[in-house]
Amino acid sequence: MPVAPITNIILQGQPVDVLRLELAYPELQGNKHFKLKYNLQRMIREGYKTVLTFGGVFSNHIHATAVACHALGIRSVGVFRGENDPNNPTLQHVRNLGMECIFIDRSLYRKRNDPSFAESLAAQFEQTYVLPEGGTNTLAIKGCTEILSGLETAYDLVVCAVGTGGTLSGLINTPGLTAEVLGISALKSEKDVLSPAVLANVSEEAAVVQWQILFDNSIGGYGAYHEELMSYIRAFEQTHTMLPDPIYTAKMFFVVEKLIKAQQYQGKRILCIHTGGLQGWAGWNYRYHTQMRIP
Ligand SMILES: *Cc1c(COP(=O)(O)O)cnc(C)c1O
Repeated sequence: MPVAPITNIILQGQPVDVLRLELAYPELQGNKHFKLKYNLQRMIREGYKTVLTFGGVFSNHIHATAVACHALGIRSVGVFRGENDPNNPTLQHVRNLGMECIFIDRSLYRKRNDPSFAESLAAQFEQTYVLPEGGTNTLAIKGCTEILSGLETAYDLVVCAVGTGGTLSGLINTPGLTAEVLGISALKSEKDVLSPAVLANVSEEAAVVQWQILFDNSIGGYGAYHEELMSYIRAFEQTHTMLPDPIYTAKMFFVVEKLIKAQQYQGKRILCIHTGGLQGWAGWNYRYHTQMRIP
């Protein structure tokens, strides 16, 4: 049994399946459910009391952490890059869920991966479990090896959106996977620093899996507004009655259509993963004065 419903859609004349993680875990932002699962299990088992993590003020990862901690009755702390904005809907939501919010300036935020800096923040709270920005660590990747459960041999190509590459790493490490895995980066890139990071996470058993990360610099940088992408999203929702998120999955579908149009994947069985992120529309509407209705 797949972990979420699958919808078949036609992109550029080609049938494509979509694994709808946004439907199975609407509150926990699709892939974030898998990334948090083993981390939260471990922190509870080992008696931690607080989760502290890092991110931008619209971060899906921070939002998911706040949701999960609220549901489990665990104290949560978000350390944000930038300034407090009481009207930011993501910040409002995580605060309503009881998350304590700390704002640090960009230069200090650069130290987020420095263990002594994280420890000094953690020491301000009780028994604190620190999750890195984006939530990617060994246990997060382990969780993501379960996303393709039951689908290990069903496709020739599996496509997912990439932020830190944690989800992609987990997909590649799926036991028994026969498909090729394609990651579409949400970040623009002149220099690919993601592929070496993913490669370092690939297990020995998964060394045979073919995978690749693509960057598309034509539709703006991470979280940037781009009119062509916005029109694409509106048309996509109309046609397929499925809403991508504005940061990750919209770019994924956009790039997949380009590739299909270039006749790269004729006859292949393709699965695209809708990794969720729909909470991001609230922040997007606020930032860019759009009026996307969130399902
Ligand atoms: C966080 C997120 C991603 C990226 O996941 P990584 O493991 O950081 O690569 C992809 N899609 C959505 C919707 C997300 O919220």
